Amino acid sequence: MITYTDQNDKPAQRKAKCPYCLQPPPVGPHWMCSDFESFGCGTSFDTFETNAVCPNCGRKFRLTQCINCGEWSPIENYYTY
Ligand SMILES: [Zn+2]
Ligand SMILES: [Zn+2]
Repeated sequence: MITYTDQNDKPAQRKAKCPYCLQPPPVGPHWMCSDFESFGCGTSFDTFETNAVCPNCGRKFRLTQCINCGEWSPIENYYTY
């Protein structure tokens, strides 16, 4: 039996870009529910999928760190370029 796998649901390049280094953030759970201001629950998640809200505890992050350059900025700023 032949089955076809639809590859169309592969993650596309993001529209988001870091306002500092202009690199798109990598797709995947690269962000942890914890930041320099306070500690969260420690869950790893993809912050650009959830719009900076932790899927486990519902915490909303004011700042998102760029994986490429390490700078922190509000997630809205990733969509302004
Ligand atoms: Zn959390
Ligand atoms: Zn950056």
